[in-house]
Amino acid sequence: MIKPDGVQRGLVGKIIARFEEKGLKLEALKFLRPSECLLHQHYAEHQGKSFFEPLVKYIQSGPVVPMVWQGPDAVKIARTLIGSTNPSQSPPGTIRGDMAVQTQKNLIHGSDSVTSAEREIDLWFDNKELIGWDRDGDKWVLESA
Ligand code: UDP
Repeated sequence: MIKPDGVQRGLVGKIIARFEEKGLKLEALKFLRPSECLLHQHYAEHQGKSFFEPLVKYIQSGPVVPMVWQGPDAVKIARTLIGSTNPSQSPPGTIRGDMAVQTQKNLIHGSDSVTSAEREIDLWFDNKELIGWDRDGDKWVLESA
């Protein structure tokens, strides 16, 4: 999910391009201002931590771009593309390493496991919003000879 700083800074296209260029397949994407209730569920694991309320307020402040990207090891690949939580520990070449400096406003959220991804997809999307489609050229990205 591209966070409000990614939207406000005009980085939506650049961030999406990282996932497309890598070869992950887009299954769903939308643009919305999330409710407090949705964010409380999304960040449930962080409830009670000092950064929780400011985090919810910041994500609620602007529209965000939730997305679903599919592919082998998609969760691990996405986390690698995104980089570490703290952008100062994120190497160049990662989204946070290249475009962010601050831990809270680190541009993008990525699910940290397949289980979290399933839970989060369920929270953010209706089943009918997930588009199954065949991508021409997938054999050049996904298959070994
Ligand atoms: N965050 C924060 N302060 C912290 C740790 C996290 O503001 O000390 C924010 C930051 O935006 C981060 C989000 O809370 O992306 C969720 O934290 P998590 O540890 O799940 O990091 P992520 O999986 O996003 O790298």
